[in-house]
Amino acid sequence: MPRDSIVIVGGGISGLSAAWELTGGGAGPNELTPRVEIIEASERVGGALAATQFAGRIIDLGADGFLARRPEAVQLAKELGLESELLPIEASGASIWLRGALHELPTGLVLGMPTSSKTVRSVKGLSFKARIAARRDEIFAKSLKVHDDISIGEIVRTKLGNEIAYQFVEPMIGGIQAGRIDELSAKTVFPALFEAAKKGGSLMKALRSPPAVGDGPVFNSLKDGVGSLPEKLAQQLQRRGVVIRTDVAVTALRSTPSGHYAWEVDTERTTTTANAVILATPAPVVYELMHKLNEPFAPLTQIKSAGAAMVTFSVATSNIELPEHGTGVLIPLQSPWTGNDSLMVTAITFLDRKWGRLQRPEDIVLRAHVGRSDDERWAKLSDDELTQRVASELSFVLKKFTSPLQSLVQRWPQGLPQYYVGHAEVSTTAKQNANNIRIALCGNAYDGVGIPASIGSGRRAAREVLNWLGE
Ligand SMILES: Cc1cc2nc3c(=O)[nH]c(=O)nc-3n(C[C@H](O)[C@H](O)[C@H](O)COP(=O)(O)OP(=O)(O)OC[C@H]3O[C@@H](n4cnc5c(N)ncnc54)[C@H](O)[C@@H]3O)c2cc1C
Repeated sequence: MPRDSIVIVGGGISGLSAAWELTGGGAGPNELTPRVEIIEASERVGGALAATQFAGRIIDLGADGFLARRPEAVQLAKELGLESELLPIEASGASIWLRGALHELPTGLVLGMPTSSKTVRSVKGLSFKARIAARRDEIFAKSLKVHDDISIGEIVRTKLGNEIAYQFVEPMIGGIQAGRIDELSAKTVFPALFEAAKKGGSLMKALRSPPAVGDGPVFNSLKDGVGSLPEKLAQQLQRRGVVIRTDVAVTALRSTPSGHYAWEVDTERTTTTANAVILATPAPVVYELMHKLNEPFAPLTQIKSAGAAMVTFSVATSNIELPEHGTGVLIPLQSPWTGNDSLMVTAITFLDRKWGRLQRPEDIVLRAHVGRSDDERWAKLSDDELTQRVASELSFVLKKFTSPLQSLVQRWPQGLPQYYVGHAEVSTTAKQNANNIRIALCGNAYDGVGIPASIGSGRRAAREVLNWLGE
């Protein structure tokens, strides 16, 4: 009997996690472990996780932290023996840019959502009208019918008005997803809000008792940045005998009706046979590959992605003045700038406040985020133009920001899948259709966009495949 063989297409964190699970997870491989081959189109593994040297430190170019109160990423780090490398976030809080000034965000927010009118009153940049809307929600809440799914925007606008929706909630939720709250699904992006809206009555009151999340830090990073996780995982996979091929894209899948192997996986120059295939690529790539097979994967075309870019700066300590507290700044969309132009920067992260390992007395490192599903102005600018534009915006928003010592632009075109209203159904249908032909789908397009969700999704896909092999 030939050895079972599994091909994983895509070497981002979800594909690598799938390989880890296929080769025994924390327990390690045994005599039944299949041959595993990962095929990755770019020259390195990690996808949206990457780290580089900048201003004498290792900084992350994409994600720079992960939720510590979800188990998947912490668990994986432990299984890899990296527990001692986990670093907790070292600051909390943030400021928000409202009416041309920075205001410290109050405590007691749930993913950017206020939970009392007192919270709203404490934000000086919000208008009297916003305060009335918040008070009204507490004493005479507006009614809203919630069925299978609804946008985050519709819930917050209806219950608390446009100002709180667009000036307060969107900068946080929309920022994480690089999307618009009027398009994003409450059910999949912000389930606590969805449940609170379904309850009826006051939205803010219903959000006051979020599910218990346990103690410990909210976010973690790693000693050498989150970008070191895929590299270290790949090294251990190779020690387990997993074949990792980079710089080579999968171009087609072919089903083989007879014989031990159900699939042939093509790159430009090679074909690998496999009992099952795990597709851990962005949804448009899955669609392209499945489309060639004439499989009914139309739902995948509904999963669009938004692009974003980050500009990281190092600035001499004497040339910068940040708000006293917090890990960064949120900026509502369409915040006025000069003339008719609006600010392009949507958030600023004070990297060395979040992660103490990056602190140096002589300079500060911070990064500015640009890009939303409906704002691609950044994509039309060269790196130099983007850096200059972002630097001017930072000197407008921060008390002092001059003469950066170094800068670095990182672009993530199509980096963040958008979970539109109805996403749960789209995702379930796509995964089910794929399972029917012995293909497992995983990655940030289906079960959540963060790192823990992507890891969980990869491991779930691997377990599906292991079950098929056992049948
Ligand atoms: C700018 C940015 C900031 C983020 N910040 C955070 C954060 O702070 N915290 C957090 O938890 N999450 C964050 N995320 C989300 C998180 O990083 C991602 O959801 C996660 O890394 C996705 O992993 P993945 O494996 O699903 O996909 P990807 O990382 O996109 O990997 C997919 C891989 O498939 C490869 N591929 C594509 N086509 C082919 C082909 N034909 N053949 C072979 N390979 C192919 C790609 O090259 C890529 O390596 C951020 C994302 C971005 C873009």
